[in-house]
Amino acid sequence: MTQQRRIIYDVIRKSKRHMTAEQIYREARQILPSIAMGTVYRNLGLMTEAGEVLRIEMPGRPDRFDKTVVPHHHCVCVRCGEVYDIPIPDLTERLEKMLGAPVEGYDLTVHVVCDACRAMEKSAQ
Ligand SMILES: [Zn+2]
Ligand SMILES: [Zn+2]
Repeated sequence: MTQQRRIIYDVIRKSKRHMTAEQIYREARQILPSIAMGTVYRNLGLMTEAGEVLRIEMPGRPDRFDKTVVPHHHCVCVRCGEVYDIPIPDLTERLEKMLGAPVEGYDLTVHVVCDACRAMEKSAQ
């Protein structure tokens, strides 16, 4: 693993958020000021292929990168675009029972207004 890749991986691993490439770049630059945006993009691609991180594609929004690589579900804030995990461990089993057919896959994104945005709206009133 190159030094750059290790730094990028550490940034993702230490974050509690689902970061965009831009956010990862800004964090990585604090540690290694000479790192280039292209290097971050290239390494994120390699790490996604290697299964080290999960790329979350959000229509109309920048991709997010997730250190949790096991399949799980997300909700996205319609105000700020922040992405959060939703823990539904047995969703596949429940769907299969309801449908009586094996589930091959699905895209599930729940749209919410996150705690931070609700708090901000409350204080603005
Ligand atoms: Zn929000
Ligand atoms: Zn996630």
